Amino acid sequence: MFLKRLEVVGFKSFADRIGIDFVPGVTAVVGPNGSGKSNVTDAIRWVLGEQSAKSLRGSKMEDVIFAGSASRKPLNFAEVTLILNNEDEEVGIPYSEISVTRRVYRSGESEYLLNNQQCRLKDITDLFMDSGLGKEAFSIISQGRVDEILNSKPDDRRTIFEEAAGILKYKLRKKKAEQK
Ligand code: ATP
Ligand code: MG
Repeated sequence: MFLKRLEVVGFKSFADRIGIDFVPGVTAVVGPNGSGKSNVTDAIRWVLGEQSAKSLRGSKMEDVIFAGSASRKPLNFAEVTLILNNEDEEVGIPYSEISVTRRVYRSGESEYLLNNQQCRLKDITDLFMDSGLGKEAFSIISQGRVDEILNSKPDDRRTIFEEAAGILKYKLRKKKAEQK
């Protein structure tokens, strides 16, 4: 599985619809300070279900919606779509391509779509659990996170390794079964 494409409209500094294609190998995003590089990674974490406005460097969720500029009016919604190549069927559904969309309106309404079908956030988190993809997954390491991992308590650090090893899913299922 690999990240194939990211489409963003109305999210933070991206007023126009933009698409970024990722090809196998290294993709680097470069640009001057304040040009929106970190907003790209924020978009990836947001579409995967990030609920904390603070960790997206805002104070409320509405802050992810394009707030306007000198030459443009603010927009009423933000939308991000992540497209994954799943030809190896690493994620356990029989689709060679998986798309995940999240949309939020200023009114507070929001929705998630999996391959263009409305779904719950839980469907998305369950699908990607242990795949290395997720808002907190090991595949995204933000600034300051390395220090945090090194300084974290052994139990917390263990959770990170367990997810990377793909066993967190089974531990959570076992815990649930024991509660019944
Ligand atoms: P650096 O090199 O300093 O890390 P960067 O390329 O990572 O910079 P970002 O932090 O991604 O830059 O982008 C910051 C820009 O995004 C700022 O100009 C800010 O005004 C703009 N921005 C953030 N949220 C919004 C929003 N809701 N509407 C419009 N613009 C926004
Ligand atoms: Mg940055």
